[in-house]
Amino acid sequence: MSDYVALDGLTLAYGKTVAVEGLDLSIAKGELITLLGPSGCGKSTTMRAIAGLMTPSAGRIVIDGRDVTRLPPSKREVGLVFQSYALFPHLTVYENVAFGLRLKSAPDLDAKVRDGLATVGLTEFADRAPRDLSGGQQQRVALARSLVMEPKVLLLDEPLSNLDARLRLEMRMELQRVQKETGITMVFVTHDQAEALALADRIVLMRDGAIEQMGTPEEIYSAPVSGFAADFIGFETILPDGAGGGLAWRPGAVVLGSGPNQGTVRGTAFAGERREYILDSPLGTIKADTPAGAAPLEIGQSVAFDLPRERAAHLARLD
Ligand code: ADP
Ligand code: MG
Repeated sequence: MSDYVALDGLTLAYGKTVAVEGLDLSIAKGELITLLGPSGCGKSTTMRAIAGLMTPSAGRIVIDGRDVTRLPPSKREVGLVFQSYALFPHLTVYENVAFGLRLKSAPDLDAKVRDGLATVGLTEFADRAPRDLSGGQQQRVALARSLVMEPKVLLLDEPLSNLDARLRLEMRMELQRVQKETGITMVFVTHDQAEALALADRIVLMRDGAIEQMGTPEEIYSAPVSGFAADFIGFETILPDGAGGGLAWRPGAVVLGSGPNQGTVRGTAFAGERREYILDSPLGTIKADTPAGAAPLEIGQSVAFDLPRERAAHLARLD
């Protein structure tokens, strides 16, 4: 495997707080990796270390064959896009995108800026001030500003979190297109499983500063390794298998209205296409849903249910 970016036994601490411990990750050239996990699991810390904003207490970082562990951010050829756009308010869109290139006295500045603006669809907006742009457009400027520097790796830390749902989807597709067009290696951080599944070539699921599971979106979606991974990716009913592991079902995999088990409806919620239910049962809490058209069950009602084996994900660990 070609390790274009390699994190090797990376340990990162804030004073005595160890945020990331012994992280190993290799990323191929042109790959789009997402770091997925709950708040506080160490995603941003890992990004900071790759960008050079934080020095590891152990381990090393290699980018394109060069050990960059001790290099300052400016020498790493890494771009970083945050959730906040951090544009210069007094500069036009054009000048914001040109800023880093001017610092480097880069040749062909105008062509590069125009090209960057075209890539993110902002050619018409070159002369505007950032305050006269929407949030999505401002995030595109931030993206163009990073892209024109031609970084070896582009790091995006929850870049879409400030956008509303519709714009988020649009920008996600935009990012995918830019990545395909430019072939740039990207590490994208999110706590949103849908975003990770839609974008990634490979998902790195993190938990408490370590990697819990790594795989393609299909693998992560259908074959979680642990209770934590299953829960995070939407398997809402998790039961022990009696052998130290577990069995997990998505709500849609639970059969309601027939089957060998009996439960009582504790809660119900209308969710558009589906109606969601929480059942109490001797097996534990069961989360199920039915198509919106099905006759609704009442709270307190007793209902038969089935947990089909063939629809279960088998978990090597329950925790
Ligand atoms: P994530 O981006 O996954 O939400 P972070 O990498 O920001 O998580 O944080 C990982 C851990 O490091 C958390 O426990 C967090 O409280 C801690 N942490 C993050 N930044 C700092 C800091 N500047 N000082 C001390 N602890 C921090
Ligand atoms: Mg973060």
